[in-house]
Amino acid sequence: MRSNGMEKGMARKLELVTYGAKVLRQKAAPIEEITDEIRRLGQEMLQAMYAEGGVGLAAPQVGISKRILVLDGTSVDPAIRPMVLINPEISDREGEEVGREGCLSLPGIEVEVKRSQKIHVQGRSLEGETLEFDAKGFFARIIQHETDHLNGILLIDYLKPMERILAIWKLRKRGWREDSEFLKEKDKQAITQNTMIG
Ligand code: ZN
Repeated sequence: MRSNGMEKGMARKLELVTYGAKVLRQKAAPIEEITDEIRRLGQEMLQAMYAEGGVGLAAPQVGISKRILVLDGTSVDPAIRPMVLINPEISDREGEEVGREGCLSLPGIEVEVKRSQKIHVQGRSLEGETLEFDAKGFFARIIQHETDHLNGILLIDYLKPMERILAIWKLRKRGWREDSEFLKEKDKQAITQNTMIG
């Protein structure tokens, strides 16, 4: 029996890719038309994000080079509601704030990243509506982290050269040519929930 795949539990399970996957370094392509396939992808990305314990996820992290991201920050701040953003654009950056972030694509790595405190965001919803809003604090941080993924930028790019070499060494040591299988439970626990962005 096949269904339209939109019901919970019927969707294909998306596989996370981790450091070493080329797709993480590519600039993702804009989505020209919001098709059924894109709508299904948005739903499946939300499910994958919940399954992995992130508060955000960008399509390149599941091996798809398209400009779509999902987020749900309610575990940290009830005001950061579940959202799917297509072709997000950030403008009007204000202020700066340093915070620790973890990334589902970089198991075992945490980085202090300076982000804009407040941003203006434009994009489209899964229904094709134009979305335009201001985001600040942790909400703004999630969107900046995920938008980085759409541009092929990873947390380790914010490290000083020596720290970056050490982080890459740590990732390689884990066997970075493999996929998410080595995102072991202990690594998830090692990163505090508040810092795991996605
Ligand atoms: Zn990430």
